[in-house]
Amino acid sequence: MSARILVVDDQPANVRMLEAKLQAEYFDVCTAFDGPSALTVATTEQPDLILLDVMMPGMDGYETCRRLKAESRTRHIPVVMVTALDQREDRISGLEAGADDFLTKPVDDVTLFARVRSLLRLKAVLDELRYRDQGGALAGIVSDPAELDSGKAEAVIITPDPKAGKRYAAAMPEGVGGRVVSDPVAAIDAVGERCDIALIDLSHANFDGLRVCARIRSMPKTRQLPLIAIINSDDVASAVRALDLGVNDVLHRPVDVQELAARLRTQLRRARYADKLRNRLDESLEMAVTDPLTGLHNRRFLSARLNHAVESANAGGAPVSVMIADIDHFKRVNDTLGHEAGDTVLKVFAERLGSDLRALDQAARYGGEEFVVMMPGAGLAEAQIAAERLRRVIGETPFQVEGIGEVPVTVSVGLAQLHAGESVESLLRRADAALYEAKTEGRNRVQAAASAAA
Ligand code: GH3
Ligand code: MG
Ligand code: MG
Repeated sequence: MSARILVVDDQPANVRMLEAKLQAEYFDVCTAFDGPSALTVATTEQPDLILLDVMMPGMDGYETCRRLKAESRTRHIPVVMVTALDQREDRISGLEAGADDFLTKPVDDVTLFARVRSLLRLKAVLDELRYRDQGGALAGIVSDPAELDSGKAEAVIITPDPKAGKRYAAAMPEGVGGRVVSDPVAAIDAVGERCDIALIDLSHANFDGLRVCARIRSMPKTRQLPLIAIINSDDVASAVRALDLGVNDVLHRPVDVQELAARLRTQLRRARYADKLRNRLDESLEMAVTDPLTGLHNRRFLSARLNHAVESANAGGAPVSVMIADIDHFKRVNDTLGHEAGDTVLKVFAERLGSDLRALDQAARYGGEEFVVMMPGAGLAEAQIAAERLRRVIGETPFQVEGIGEVPVTVSVGLAQLHAGESVESLLRRADAALYEAKTEGRNRVQAAASAAA
C-alpha cells in the first residue's frame, strides 16, 4: 500500500532518518520542521498519515495535533505522535489532543510499519466513503467534534483472566458499559450481539486471541467493529500480527487504565465518524433514486433496472414486460380541485399501485402522472392480467381526498413484452404507443402492444 506520509520534527537528523526508512518502503514522504509549517503542509499536500514529534520549540506536538484535528481539511488524517519519552502522561495528553497513536524514539522499524499499515488501511476506508460522496453531502458532517464523544456504547472485554477483565471494565470511560467474556466461542457471540467496541487480551499463551480477532474481522456484521488488543510489552511479533489482522489499536501490559480509557474514546470516536459517513451516504443514495412525493423509485432508478433486466433477458434469461400507466384526465383534477388535491391523488395512486404488485415487480414514477412498472419474468399474458388488476384497483373505488371527499380516478395502461434483441428504448416506445391507443380508444382501459417494432 503506497501512501504519502508527512514527517514533522525540529531535528533535521530525525526527519532524514524517518524519511529514509519510509522511502525504502516506497512511501512518498513530505517534511516539516515545526508546528506551523506542519499545518500548512498537511493542508496543501493532504498526506495519508502524519508522524509528529512531540517536543518542538514554539508550537509543540500536542498543540499541532489539536489544531490538525480542529480543522476540517486535516481532521481525517491519522496522526502518530513520536515521543522521546515513554511517559504515560505524555501518551495521555497526546491521545487527548486527538492523536491516533504513539511511537517511542528510537523508532523500531517493525512496529513503525505495522502501525503505518494499520492506520493507512483505516484511512482508505474513510477515503472511499468520502470519495463516493461526490455530491458533497458529507462535507461538514461533524460540526462539533464533541458530538462524537457523547452517547452510550457497549464494550466487550475478552480475556481469560477475570481479575484483569474486571479492572478493565472499571476503567471504561463515561457512557461505556463493559462486559467481560472469557470463552472464545462466547466472545464471538457477544460481539455479534450488542457491541460497539471489543478489547481482546493477547497476553496469555494458552488463549488464542488472534484467532478470535480473525473471526471478528471475517464476519460481515463485525468487520468494521473497533478492536483493541492487549499485548505484553516485549511481544512485538504479536503486536504486528494483530495490527496486520486488522486490530485497530494495541495496548501494552501492564495496562494503564487511564490510557485504556483514552484509547477507547479515540476508537469510538473514529467508529462513530465512519458510521455517520456511511449513514449519510446511504441516505443521499436513497434520495437520488426516490421520488419525494410518492416515495416510489424515480425514472433514474427504473432506467438502470430496466437496462439490467433487458440485458439479462437478451442474454437468454427470463422474459421481461413493462407497463406504462397514465392517469386519465389528470389535468382536470388539478384544474377543478387544485394542485394539492392533485398531489394527494398521485400519492394514493402510488400506494394502490405499490400494494398491487408482485415482489419482483419494480414500479417507478416516470414523470408527472405517468408510472412505469417493470415485470421481470412476466410474459404478455401475465402482464395483461396485472395491468387489468391495476385498472380495477384504481377505477373501482374513488379516491378519498381530505377536505374534498371522493374523487373518481381512472387509468389507462400500455403494455409491451421485450422481443429478442430489443433495446430498452424500443420496448418503452411500443408500450407508449399502446398507451396512446388506450387513450384514443376511450381511456380506462389496457392495451397490449402489437409484436416487434415495425
Ligand atoms: P390524459 O388522460 O390524456 O392523460 O390527460 P391528462 O390530463 O392526464 O394529461 P396531461 O399530460 O394533459 O396533464 C397532466 C397534468 O399533470 C399536467 C400537470 O400539471 C400535472 N402534473 C404533473 N406533475 C404533477 C404533480 O407533481 N402534482 C400535480 N398536482 N400535478 C402534476
Ligand atoms: Mg394523464
Ligand atoms: Mg400525461
